[in-house]
Amino acid sequence: MQHKKTPLISPVPGTQRDLDSFHFGPQGQGKKAYIQASLHADELPGMLVAWKLKHQLQALEELGRLNGEVVLVPVANPIGQNQHLMDVHLGRYESENGQNFNRGYFDTFEPVKASIHNKLSDKSEDNIPLVRQAMIDALNGWQVETELQSLQKNLQLLSCDADLMLDLHCDFEAALHIYSTDYSWQGIEPLARLMGSKANLLANETGGNPFDCSTDMVWQRLNQEFGDVIPQGCLGATVELRGQGDVNDEYADHDSLAIIEYLGVLGIVDNEPSLPKEKAPSSDLAAVETLKTKQGGLLVLKVQPGDIVEAGQVFAEVIDPINDLVEQVKVTQAGYVYSRTNRKMATAGMLIGNIAGEHVIRSGYLLAP
Ligand SMILES: [Zn+2]
Repeated sequence: MQHKKTPLISPVPGTQRDLDSFHFGPQGQGKKAYIQASLHADELPGMLVAWKLKHQLQALEELGRLNGEVVLVPVANPIGQNQHLMDVHLGRYESENGQNFNRGYFDTFEPVKASIHNKLSDKSEDNIPLVRQAMIDALNGWQVETELQSLQKNLQLLSCDADLMLDLHCDFEAALHIYSTDYSWQGIEPLARLMGSKANLLANETGGNPFDCSTDMVWQRLNQEFGDVIPQGCLGATVELRGQGDVNDEYADHDSLAIIEYLGVLGIVDNEPSLPKEKAPSSDLAAVETLKTKQGGLLVLKVQPGDIVEAGQVFAEVIDPINDLVEQVKVTQAGYVYSRTNRKMATAGMLIGNIAGEHVIRSGYLLAP
């Protein structure tokens, strides 16, 4: 195991943060996997999973059972790890400017396209290192100015040449679910099976440039531009490890072992994965019903993550105890409840839950704020 420290831009004198990455297995041979945790810094189940992975990967490396490289970043957001206000950890948005830590990643498509267009080989496998080097060059050309941008740039530099990118997050209260792209899904599906994920939400275009599709969608667009001389170069997914409160050994042991088995499916770990027979389901991210309140009030949730609901079913009641107004928030299409808020005082217009449905009901920007 190699431990690398990458210094970020120092925001003020006396403050210097590093991005710590751990590197396992042989570099430059076999496939490369990149796994990071807690980019939204207050989403910590993934950090425990990553810490367990660190020890499991170290043991596998010592046994000579790694056929490729694994890069692990257990603390992907050291800036957000130190954002607290009056005993509350605020890890989703940077306190300096309100930017979501998982938005605004550098889009390498145009510079990569310009760099490779007259260098492409007829042999698709020769184009993989060409594209990866062009991505690295494009990212190195990103003139970052702030600590946050330097974090984003270094996360992308660590991951952009990987065959697999996993970003470990969680929701407020949730069943395990996965966000990925239509492009990556076929390769990610065994992971969903191993993890027991019942909601797998796919979209190629979400808007917002989140981390998880900062590489696979560039490969997809290059394939559209140049055709099949551009092979599938990267699988990307965000794994939502249930809710913020779900930091425990039982879940983390299950999840880390599932990831190790999946690395076996990809041939990075030398093991015999026991893949469940039944394929994992997937649905369109645009078919997710996002339930919102009309009024503010005391929120009484009527369904649990993991429930199957019918159209017309009451998801929650919002109670105004002063005027005795009770709003019933109802589900409009049947589906699988994969997450709900953990706040108990709702504000008007607040998102209180997500249901994976079958019919497309949304378009445009598909992510939460
Ligand atoms: Zn998150």
